[in-house]
Amino acid sequence: MDSVKHYCGVVGIFSQEKSNIPEQLYFPLFSLQHRGQESAGITYVKEERFATFKDLGSVGSVLSHYLNEEHLSYAGIGHVRYSTAGGNLWDNAQPIHITCNRGEIALAHNGNISNADKLRERLSHEGAIFQSTSDTELVLHMLSRSRKIDFFDGITEVLKHLEGAFSMVLLHRDMLIGIRDPLGFRPLYIGQKEGMTMIASETCALDTHEITEYRSVEPGEMVIVTKEGVRSERFNSSPRIAQCVFEMIYFARPDSEIYNQSVHINRKKMGAALAKVDTVEADLVIPVPDSGNFAALGYSQESGVPFDFGLTRNHFAGRSFIQPTKSKREMAVKMKLHPNKETLKGKRVIMVDDSLVRGTTSRTIVKLLRQAGASEVHLRLSSPELHWPCFFGIDVPTRDELISNHKTPDEIAEMIGADSVMFLPIEELEHCVEEPNKFCYACFNGDYPVHVPLKSEGVLKNG
Ligand code: SF4
Repeated sequence: MDSVKHYCGVVGIFSQEKSNIPEQLYFPLFSLQHRGQESAGITYVKEERFATFKDLGSVGSVLSHYLNEEHLSYAGIGHVRYSTAGGNLWDNAQPIHITCNRGEIALAHNGNISNADKLRERLSHEGAIFQSTSDTELVLHMLSRSRKIDFFDGITEVLKHLEGAFSMVLLHRDMLIGIRDPLGFRPLYIGQKEGMTMIASETCALDTHEITEYRSVEPGEMVIVTKEGVRSERFNSSPRIAQCVFEMIYFARPDSEIYNQSVHINRKKMGAALAKVDTVEADLVIPVPDSGNFAALGYSQESGVPFDFGLTRNHFAGRSFIQPTKSKREMAVKMKLHPNKETLKGKRVIMVDDSLVRGTTSRTIVKLLRQAGASEVHLRLSSPELHWPCFFGIDVPTRDELISNHKTPDEIAEMIGADSVMFLPIEELEHCVEEPNKFCYACFNGDYPVHVPLKSEGVLKNG
């Protein structure tokens, strides 16, 4: 499907009593599957050593054998990964587990280190040999090369050299460590229940173990979990916080809380905000399932236009359907979304989706709705127009590929065959989240919160 993609999700568990940690990691990782479907893996403490198992594939296909095995342990970490085209290599699957001068370390990372090219070049000159193309590996190289004797002095030194987004879990000796970058781009939560401490990307992962006592790991905070309990340290502080607003619009699971805010409530607010500024008359509001569900509901509740499901989603249609030719791309959409004819026949339809990238999927969906008898189709997006790439862990295409850099909403409507297209204005989006000044909106307005390598992405060339 034509949408922006996430890079990763992470989980870490520390248990005061030995328990079946691989199995315990399986469930929260499964709940984070939406954050990455291309590889999955875990590292756990096995007697005195670390054991790692990872592979390309979903959590179910890679890790389900752990549901029938018992591995008593007290700590482990896990990871799910999405990769960009060409980058789906086994070597890039996580956790990355190394043995170095400090002993064994395993690391799982959600985000994107925006100065990775510079760091990689420097390390290469110093003779580093890389086993992957992942920016996560750089952290481990830097840690093993640090001259600081104390592990925490070493890690604090390394973290100060990193720019961009990093929510991480790290396993070392008898410790589980959670780290969130100073600007807080990606969410990270820590919770406890009956001797178990869990660190995870979203609260839906904590829910799998019924952990109800939790809090957000703060930007620039490192939490260290040992048998003695949980310790918190600040490794850096930033005057600016830049939580990714796209997590709230689309990526995070709607039943999660991230940045101390409810995802599905904020999504409904975005739909309601769209309805407030919209003037079109319609008979029906439908979502593009599942990404548009809550915004469509919010739109309907605010406008009074009835809500229904005009499209049924086939949950078994995976990425394998995506093919490079136009007709096959259309078929991929048809395999995934089926119009509900009786609901749509003769209706003026408002179709709500989260964002518009290239417009190719929307064109096919609009065609499907018209073939099913809709008399009008108005596309409404619960995000502003996408103009800029992301350097912080989200796969937004280059400026050239983003339709909003070439066409106005009216021109997009003409291209996709809709009667009208409208985006949520950025100032309205800011009203839909709490503490809007603590969010990043760079892919909409180009206001990057840290220095980014614009030239290499062709951004300057394209204006
Ligand atoms: S640029 Fe966009 S997708 Fe990337 S972190 Fe900022 S808001 Fe999120």
